[in-house]
Amino acid sequence: MFKKILIANRGEIALRVQRACREMGIKSVVVYSEADREAKYVKLADEAVCIGPAASSHSYLNMPAIISTAEVTDAEAIHPGYGFLSENADFAERVEKSGFVFIGPTPDSIRLMGDKVSAKQAMLKSGVPCVPGSEGALPEDPKEIIRIARAIGYPVIVKAAGGGGGRGMRVVHTEAALIHAVQTTRAEAGAAFGNPQVYLEKFLENPRHVEIQVLADGHRNAVWLGERDCSTQRRHQKIIEEAPAPGIARRVIERIGDRCAAACRKIGYRGAGTFEFLYENGEFYFIEMNTRVQVEHPVTELVTGVDIVQLQIRIAAGEKLPFSQRNVQMRGHAIECRINAEDPYRFTPSPGRITLWHAPGGPGVRVDSHVYTNYVVPPNYDSLVGKIIVHGDTREQALARMRSALSETVVEGIQTNIPLHRELLADAQFVAGGTSIHYLEGWLGQRRR
Ligand code: ADP
Repeated sequence: MFKKILIANRGEIALRVQRACREMGIKSVVVYSEADREAKYVKLADEAVCIGPAASSHSYLNMPAIISTAEVTDAEAIHPGYGFLSENADFAERVEKSGFVFIGPTPDSIRLMGDKVSAKQAMLKSGVPCVPGSEGALPEDPKEIIRIARAIGYPVIVKAAGGGGGRGMRVVHTEAALIHAVQTTRAEAGAAFGNPQVYLEKFLENPRHVEIQVLADGHRNAVWLGERDCSTQRRHQKIIEEAPAPGIARRVIERIGDRCAAACRKIGYRGAGTFEFLYENGEFYFIEMNTRVQVEHPVTELVTGVDIVQLQIRIAAGEKLPFSQRNVQMRGHAIECRINAEDPYRFTPSPGRITLWHAPGGPGVRVDSHVYTNYVVPPNYDSLVGKIIVHGDTREQALARMRSALSETVVEGIQTNIPLHRELLADAQFVAGGTSIHYLEGWLGQRRR
């Protein structure tokens, strides 16, 4: 096992990885930007190295600075967390070429899945069902594009092969709007992702977002750890996640989970990963794979009892998976609320000093957060300040625990979306379960203050 790991990230996930290291007796080195000097995991680290100014292009995305920190601190492996460099195949490659272990999949797997067109092709070959759409990237010829869209049937969605984070997508309802939408998305994708390729998919009108967590050890052993329902989204950003997905028959989930694990074996996948699907009328449609730990991984940890981050580290150290699919049992129900520093009505960011922070507790309540009273939320990064995750024997109990946890939570000095969570946890349709990815936006449209 490694003696020392460098954590190339910030915020709650840096603390989460650090906790895994500490429990495993591994020393942690954290790199931080000038804006994160006061963060909890920086203070708790065995070693902490400032690698640059607040702007992430000069710090958390600065590959030479991160790799040279690993060199000077004698770290053996680098955990990239999520976001930043976590799905950057070039980074993974540079880490390995410099003699360190990248805690994640091989650069080839990251590259294959990072291009959504090649990812879909690999999935189709492995027997994972995909959203109907163009076979590969769209050609230049407008006539061809129109023909492809007609064959799919409107509405369609234009998506960037290199897209991510909910960006690089455009819904098209009529043929008249198609070519302009393709051109605009191409131009944006070229500028934002350095890859102008786009493809078409059928736009599903009312799906749910249901994803499968996998773990594979690179020795052809792969398991899936149940599913997560992440349908509660605003602008394609998830805000509440739960496991299991309410109201979907186990055998339907099992069929898709087994295919995901089989696909991992087929492509020689290594590490943790998530297969994201849209689910509509009893069918699953693959949209993309994330080759890293997800923000919402704790709900899976609570229902399966598996520590995903520790297993990422063990797998990277060359260990085999310590259990097989038969041993994976889901118990009870877990729900996560993402706490964002933002105006709960207008969703504008609300950075600044937290003058009072009281986290909730009690049976079945977990809080993953790097903040504390007097911590200053920097304006430079995403607005996630923490996650409240609850576990109960049933969904009803988990909902009750989440309501209680939210009512205990006190955050002063900045605004957060906790009032939004409280309202949603009292909403009859959300409580009934199984709402679609469009539910929250519709609900917000009718919300009264
Ligand atoms: P990203 O990598 O940017 O997160 P995804 O492909 O995962 O992009 O899609 C993000 C979200 O966009 C999905 O969770 C869903 O809400 C919506 N979406 C993507 N593809 C479709 C589709 N074919 N039909 C309907 N909604 C879609």
